[in-house]
Amino acid sequence: MRTVYVNGEYLPETEAKISIFDRGFLMADGVYEVTSVLDGKLIDFEGHAKRLERSLTELDMKKPDAFDDLLDIHRELVRVNEIDEGLVYLQVTRGSDGDRDFVFPDPATTEPSLVMFTQQKPGLAESPAAKKGIRVVSIDDIRWGRRDIKTVQLLYPSMGKMMAKAAGADDAWMVEDGHVTEGTSNNAYIVKDGKIITRALSNDILHGITRAAVLRCAKEAQMEVVERNFTIAEAQEADEAFVTSASTFVMPVIEVDGATLGDGTPGPVAKRLREIYLEEGRKKAI
Ligand code: PMP
Repeated sequence: MRTVYVNGEYLPETEAKISIFDRGFLMADGVYEVTSVLDGKLIDFEGHAKRLERSLTELDMKKPDAFDDLLDIHRELVRVNEIDEGLVYLQVTRGSDGDRDFVFPDPATTEPSLVMFTQQKPGLAESPAAKKGIRVVSIDDIRWGRRDIKTVQLLYPSMGKMMAKAAGADDAWMVEDGHVTEGTSNNAYIVKDGKIITRALSNDILHGITRAAVLRCAKEAQMEVVERNFTIAEAQEADEAFVTSASTFVMPVIEVDGATLGDGTPGPVAKRLREIYLEEGRKKAI
């Protein structure tokens, strides 16, 4: 049984409790982060901690008391749960003032809730999906206008995965005003004539921590990166495509809305970036 962390306590998962009045539960009034673990160490931890702080600020949410201890708590959970390869999930919500009200509770008297747990994912780095590549379908992006904040409002992305599954694909790319925003739980890229093309940062997409690291790796490896919008039609004509996220690193995409990219196997740029990112990530892991 897992040991999880709830508001200052390490507990068996069956004993961990949150109020039914918690605003995360009632109103999706919460933010989260997912940090991957390789060789028992955290990948890109600082990036995730920084983005968490930004998400809290943008929503006027108080930092949990344990904010400065997050690295220690992550490490302790990884240690006690013996995670060699896997994920650490962290969620902060605005907490509970013992009732339901649209108005935010007074932060002086209502503490945010902090919940963390681990997920064991053997084969995260040597992923069979990464060797084969994934198929994506396009869906309308009908999410709210602050996708740069990593909130727990994941119903539509979850529905998107189900739509992809129903269509016989692995994931969905969301499209707004004719352009791809991002994947349901990842940032999206195409590669054409050696150029890596991905949407620029704005409130329309999540500022992926893996995106930042992968683009840094690409530039260091003298690969050309162009941050601009692209369409599904352009993706279908691309030489290759891929997505990035903390839980999949760099994942090749081999099909977009039924059109096969290249020879239908992971492309060289995606494969190379996955290798470089994993190597760099492991080197810097803490
Ligand atoms: N976009 C969305 C919508 C996501 O949910 C995620 C992963 N949580 C990402 C992009 C990738 O972000 P990261 O690389 O920080 O995991």
